[in-house]
Amino acid sequence: MVTNRTFTMIKPDATAKNHIGGILKMINDANFRIIAMKYTRLSKEQAGAFYAVHKERPFYGELVEYMSSGPIIAAILEKNNAVADFRTLIGATDPSKAAEGTIRKIYAESISANAVHGSDSDENAQIEGDFFFSLLERP
Ligand code: ATP
Ligand code: MG
Repeated sequence: MVTNRTFTMIKPDATAKNHIGGILKMINDANFRIIAMKYTRLSKEQAGAFYAVHKERPFYGELVEYMSSGPIIAAILEKNNAVADFRTLIGATDPSKAAEGTIRKIYAESISANAVHGSDSDENAQIEGDFFFSLLERP
């Protein structure tokens, strides 16, 4: 199991507002290396599959609609302690509760349109990276 990688998405609210450059700069400035990256758009089916762990949650329908509403950036990032350090960099799920200087504090609109995704475990980082990238597309 790889422990120095995480997976991220720049979500539709952030791509729509031209925050891709600003967010990637914050990611690079925090010493994450981009291992693989693509600009794409999820269908409802794909968004539903990606967030299947939240299927029973009341916000699942809204989450799937939102995540398929526009283009996203998907990327695999590398750094020591990548999963935990990236969660620190992005801040709390609800941007009103996110720490100063975090990506969500700076760029997120709301708890549902919260600018970025970050994997919550090494295992999910591997699964989520595999969801978007073939072996040919990443080292
Ligand atoms: P992500 O998995 O996208 O990095 P997270 O791990 O901080 O976010 P999760 O609990 O995994 O938060 O929720 C996944 C996503 O579902 C959130 O990023 C947010 O877009 C949405 N979400 C979570 N809670 C709510 C809520 N109470 N109302 C609306 N949307 C929510
Ligand atoms: Mg999560």
